[in-house]
Amino acid sequence: MYRTHTCGELRLDDVGRRVTLAGWISRIRDLGGIRFLILRDRYGETQLVVTPDSPAYGEAENLGREFVVKASGEVKMRPKDTVNPKLPTGEIEVYVDELTILSPSKMPPFYPGEEAKEDLRLRYRYLDIRGGRVLRNLELRHEVAKSVRKYLNSKGFLEVETPYLTKSTPEGARDFLVPSRLKKGSFYALPQSPQLFKQILMISGVDRYYQLARCFRDEDLRADRQPEFTQIDIEMSFVEREDILNLVEGMIRNVFKETIGVSLPERFDRLSYEDAMNLYGSDKPDRRFGMEITDLTEFFRDTKFKIARNILDNGGISKGFIIPSFADRMSRRLGDEFSAFVKDYGLGGIVWFSVKNGINSPTKKYLFKEYEGISKSLKLNEGDVVVVAFHGNWEELCNGLGALRLKIGKEYFPHLGKGFDALWVVDFPFLEWDGEESRWVARHHPFTMPVLEDLDKYRDDPGKIKALAYDIIINGYEVGGGSIRIHNREIQEKVFSLIGLTKEEALEKFGFLLDAFEYGAPPHGGIALGLDRLVAIIAGEKSIRDVIAFPKTASGICQLTGAPSRVDERQLRELGIRVEVKE
Ligand code: ASP
Repeated sequence: MYRTHTCGELRLDDVGRRVTLAGWISRIRDLGGIRFLILRDRYGETQLVVTPDSPAYGEAENLGREFVVKASGEVKMRPKDTVNPKLPTGEIEVYVDELTILSPSKMPPFYPGEEAKEDLRLRYRYLDIRGGRVLRNLELRHEVAKSVRKYLNSKGFLEVETPYLTKSTPEGARDFLVPSRLKKGSFYALPQSPQLFKQILMISGVDRYYQLARCFRDEDLRADRQPEFTQIDIEMSFVEREDILNLVEGMIRNVFKETIGVSLPERFDRLSYEDAMNLYGSDKPDRRFGMEITDLTEFFRDTKFKIARNILDNGGISKGFIIPSFADRMSRRLGDEFSAFVKDYGLGGIVWFSVKNGINSPTKKYLFKEYEGISKSLKLNEGDVVVVAFHGNWEELCNGLGALRLKIGKEYFPHLGKGFDALWVVDFPFLEWDGEESRWVARHHPFTMPVLEDLDKYRDDPGKIKALAYDIIINGYEVGGGSIRIHNREIQEKVFSLIGLTKEEALEKFGFLLDAFEYGAPPHGGIALGLDRLVAIIAGEKSIRDVIAFPKTASGICQLTGAPSRVDERQLRELGIRVEVKE
């Protein structure tokens, strides 16, 4: 028998018992000839003691850190002054009389649980996971998945698997392709999401579907994305938007309660896209920092300040926000830094003033009256700073100020970024203009139901069409998104034509869906939530890489296996593929 107990299990009650433990040696100390070993496994750590008169003493001298051993001996109470209150097993130790090395270890490039560079952690992921932090995250991830399944199962959902080798069902990203051997020259695509399959399942009468589905998107990996990631994918028939929002709220509330004991509100706020942009300058607002953005255009109606005058005369607007109690920290230099920051978002810069014994500002000479008007009307407090910007384009202005607001929140008010804030953003625009391709594209995806009246009303201004789409936002992260779907061929064809697909292209790509719509498609809708992000938020981890067992680097490389890699000539020949690498 390898073990009678785990390394996290023994307590005072076990004193006097003979036990056998197995695990990794995490620390070795030698105190006056007595060897103290810390033995670690997934469940915890236990102190082993090997005295010079123990038959195991010889073997104990051969040990190194991260050796795998099996140790037997008697559980004893630790002397009072050596009790370790931080360790659940800290009141006991095991006096070892039998020790077997099951597997030696080389000197590791870093010790599990200790700091190391990320590429090293990913290359030796087993050492990293063994260290505990990632292991705890994997346990949490398991609990989250379990809670999701339990909840959805209790609501009558059916877990159905959909294919990984499939036809491309675009969500706006590039597909990963898999060459077919039997049909040379043809390719499968790995699913960007099970979108069309889950819709087909609704037409099949499945009624309530979910899947913890792996999705694949070949994008240039921005900050914290993975080429493959997991979605909690959900679809329901005979539902309206509120039905889905309520169901998902219940699920998220359950997950938080069951995994970390946090109670989220009974109902999450619903904010329209427009309000979210106006108030927070983002369609995924982190509301925890306060500092709502306000329209300030009216205060500059008669301004003579040239830059503002020009912008407002050309139909532009002004917005700004208050940074509370910031006057002492605000400076010309910081104002310049903020200006430079918003320039990246297409804005010209910002102006600012503070309230401290009256109004202070580098632009006081030009804008005193305006600042005074703002100060009175917004009832500013002593110490407040107001940041103001002018711009011709509403969306850019919102985005620029929103990004600045978040930067200031995170840098100067990090204590506010604690806890959890979950909300819905709804009433998204249906389309967005893709400058590169010079055409309208679906903001969510083209299977989303547009607001039907808008479809006719804004024929000449399609940017104004709204969608029955919604996102769930937690702490400023878009944790999930979904929509009510189109379930009718005519509307679907109209939408395809709106986004510039020809009839032939639409048939070629989505003919099977259009056909299915003609055999009794129920009204339906759904959502997908990013499991990786959700777990990272619950775990308090910044990066989703820390909640994924074997993540890829930002350049899409698996450090552990070295994938992607070249393949055999023979494999390529079988596929009818010749590779020409252009350096
Ligand atoms: N398939 C969508 C996505 O992956 C989610 C949905 O509409 O259900 O973003």
